[in-house]
Amino acid sequence: MSALLKNSQNGHLPASARIPAIARPFVSDRAMKTLDLVEKFVEEECIPADAVFQRQIGETTEERFSSHPSVLEDLKSKAKKLGLWNLFLPKNHFKEGAGFSNLEYGLMAEYLGKSMTASEATNCAAPDTGNMEVLAKYGNEAQKRKWLDPLLSGDIRSAFLMTEPQVASSDATNIELLIQRDGNDYVLNGEKWWSSGAGDPRCKIYIVLGKTDPYNKEKYKQQSVILVPHDTPGITIHRMLSVLGYDDAPHGHGHISFNNVRVPASNMVLGEGRGFEIIQGRLGPGRIHHAMRSVGAAEKALEWFLARLNDPSKTPFGEQLHKHGIMLDRIARSRIEIDAARLMVLNAAIKIDESNAKGALKEIAEVKVLVPTMNLTIIDRAIQAYGGAGVCQDTPLAYMYALGRTMRLVDGPDEVHILQLGKNENKRGPAHLARIDAQIKKGEELLKQYGIKIKDPLQLNRVSGNSSKL
Ligand SMILES: Cc1cc2nc3c(=O)[nH]c(=O)nc-3n(C[C@H](O)[C@H](O)[C@H](O)COP(=O)(O)OP(=O)(O)OC[C@H]3O[C@@H](n4cnc5c(N)ncnc54)[C@H](O)[C@@H]3O)c2cc1C
Repeated sequence: MSALLKNSQNGHLPASARIPAIARPFVSDRAMKTLDLVEKFVEEECIPADAVFQRQIGETTEERFSSHPSVLEDLKSKAKKLGLWNLFLPKNHFKEGAGFSNLEYGLMAEYLGKSMTASEATNCAAPDTGNMEVLAKYGNEAQKRKWLDPLLSGDIRSAFLMTEPQVASSDATNIELLIQRDGNDYVLNGEKWWSSGAGDPRCKIYIVLGKTDPYNKEKYKQQSVILVPHDTPGITIHRMLSVLGYDDAPHGHGHISFNNVRVPASNMVLGEGRGFEIIQGRLGPGRIHHAMRSVGAAEKALEWFLARLNDPSKTPFGEQLHKHGIMLDRIARSRIEIDAARLMVLNAAIKIDESNAKGALKEIAEVKVLVPTMNLTIIDRAIQAYGGAGVCQDTPLAYMYALGRTMRLVDGPDEVHILQLGKNENKRGPAHLARIDAQIKKGEELLKQYGIKIKDPLQLNRVSGNSSKL
């Protein structure tokens, strides 16, 4: 058995045998086989290839944002041959994908999250995944043939442009980029940033959110989504933003302006005023993908943590690190936290499969908040165990930390989801108040019935304040 796959004291327990019991009944035999293939592909092909990818993108900024590492194309060919392609498009909503459920893909995405190259190698990388879902779900036939087909075949890449530097973009009603009708065209003016993927020389299409009707009294009808080819005159990429110092090349995060950018009216997706609906539809399953990849990243951090604890050359104060109880405590906590987070994500995926993203809003928001924080905690513990090596380029941990930190911001910051969850949870408050009051009242009646006199009146505990005499 390959050492690259060994994951237990006794050898290798394949990914399909490690599916949590709660999820197993929902996973088909075909998905189990594919899951094992994904694990093997990631561990044996993609993770070793990450080192080549990092070197092939070059040194200078110019090189890094114009390169297309050949190792990635080789991985893509291998993945296609193995049938590991477009795994993400859920079978109950799209005919274009590989035919798996959100849950089944969620299990696979965990492994993809362990490598820099695996998601793109299997054509499951953000933001293309969400963009393909938008085109498959809301695009017309012409839009699908022009942009969805080459995205599905991995020939081009795409970017999703919503966030703007001059407004608080976590509230999408603030978006200002103007999309104005002019004859048979639309003309776009405005600025975008954090346009992920715009640095890649293969990024050919921007899916842009802007306003066609900024004064509409219904504020969720002001926005529209339109398709803009990357080389349309009037588009300027000013710079690539870094993430805690990392440039994420060649993918990159662009700061882009639109100056009288003219596209045919037929590039409008779904129709004017439907933008909000589209971005809402785009984000649900995508959040699950991010979350599951983050579970995989946390699992990888734990593997690196365990490797350091068992490194015989590192013996602070005369003992290997695994002999120090504090480290075992951290290992145990990490195991618990990863396993708990995984169950939450799988539960959310099952809920989406049973209904749709709208029907799983609570579960999606829960994992959107919980998983990135869990991931950062585990990576932080691993970094600590490596000492100085943990924060430099000698382990993958520092970059994983930077990437993991962005997950508390992307697709809406924590606070937005927390507030929504808090508000919805609080809606149950009046019902609980009434129920607790009724229980206390019944307790008082029972006390009377049993002839029990008590010193401290129960009404002191009553929350509604309308006391009754014993
Ligand atoms: C690596 C990375 C990749 C990204 N990729 C893309 C992309 O491809 N396309 C794209 O369009 N955008 C992308 N983004 C942008 C991301 O979605 C936004 O940064 C995010 O939605 C927050 O918007 P903002 O930056 O305008 O911050 P703001 O909206 O100004 O929010 C700033 C802070 O205010 C606080 N806040 C916000 N709302 C509330 C609230 N209701 N209650 C309390 N506090 C609140 C939060 O702490 C929040 O972090 C990316 C960002 C990063 C870091």
